[in-house]
Amino acid sequence: MPLLPVPPTVSSTHRLALDPIATPERLLLGPGPSNAHPTVLQALARMPIGHLDPLYIELMGEVQELLRYAWQTDNRLTIPMSGTGSAAMEATLANTIEPGDKVLVAVMGYFGQRLVDMAGRYRADVVTIERPWGEAFDLAELEAALITHKPAILAMVHAETSTGVCQPMDGIGDLCRRHDCLLLLDTVTSLGAVPLYIDAWKVDLAYSCSQKGLSCPPGLGPFTMGPRAEAKLAARSGKVPNWYLDVSLLNKYWGSDRVYHHTAPVNMNFGMREALRLLAEEGLEAAWARHRSNAERLWAGLERLGLELHVSEPLRLPTLTTVRIPEGVDGKAFSRHLLDRFGIEVGGGLGDLAGKVWRIGLMGYNSTPENVDRLLDLFASELPAFQSSPAAVPAAIA
Ligand SMILES: *Cc1c(COP(=O)(O)O)cnc(C)c1O
Repeated sequence: MPLLPVPPTVSSTHRLALDPIATPERLLLGPGPSNAHPTVLQALARMPIGHLDPLYIELMGEVQELLRYAWQTDNRLTIPMSGTGSAAMEATLANTIEPGDKVLVAVMGYFGQRLVDMAGRYRADVVTIERPWGEAFDLAELEAALITHKPAILAMVHAETSTGVCQPMDGIGDLCRRHDCLLLLDTVTSLGAVPLYIDAWKVDLAYSCSQKGLSCPPGLGPFTMGPRAEAKLAARSGKVPNWYLDVSLLNKYWGSDRVYHHTAPVNMNFGMREALRLLAEEGLEAAWARHRSNAERLWAGLERLGLELHVSEPLRLPTLTTVRIPEGVDGKAFSRHLLDRFGIEVGGGLGDLAGKVWRIGLMGYNSTPENVDRLLDLFASELPAFQSSPAAVPAAIA
């Protein structure tokens, strides 16, 4: 057989001999990812084992049990989806929406809008109610919307990472039962960090991620589905229109059959097991209290510096704080300065809040008093230089 011709030399602008990967030390105090716990990183670095290895099957059961604990649920169908939080988000919708189903989305920020977009792609008849970014819904307006629209599903966000609002959940599950609709809840920025009770709150579907409150890198999306949602899935007339996220197929792997569906990202699940183990070791309530007290320390410190928080105290989310960028300050330049000079990441605003706020995350491993104090010290020492920009001068004189 003739040899294939030698391929043309790759252009010398391509560096083929790269150095091994080196990443900088960063303190990630933005909207996610947050830093991973060191023992989670050790778990990720282990040699993979087979995804049908009996030891791996045992680990899967442990991850499920730990996730049920973290979510305070007995739901049988509680699994980490292979993919980030958005994959698990899509799974909740893909499995339960049948074309033409009415889905009511309560939108109070960017992630509510993403729910609208996704539900529409599964051909739901999507209706919305909205609150300004920085506010939450009350029971009366939710009930009025349920009465008007009679949806099959009410979808909403518990911890709106784009605004820093934590939606009060008291009574919403009861409303949904009374009006015969499923309650679907985004818990991406609350799981493991903010009080969250899937069963007691009568939430039928929820999803989360690995990289915010759980101190794990991005890559898995915890998913849970209660009996009412399972019944809707079982009764659907056609196939779930997404093969990868079809829970009826996935359950043949996660349930007792252990049938191959897709190759599980085994190392991500090693990391998830360790992250959840750490959470259980600390204790859920202790983790919630830690996030709360560090957030309060941050809020008090920022206010002492004369900065204004975007969300009113009762609705503030412990994992994510939105701080208004003072008049005349270039918010982007300041966060770039924190990253370049000090290796600290702070987020900017999204959507309606673009250019108006910084978003400071205190999630999982990163929620410590030391991190809060370090950031407050930098706001105190570094921000004044950014406040003396020309646009701020007239206001300061007046
Ligand atoms: C981060 C986030 C998501 C999306 O999760 P990814 O892991 O980025 O896919 C969804 N909802 C909320 C509230 C989030 O903060």
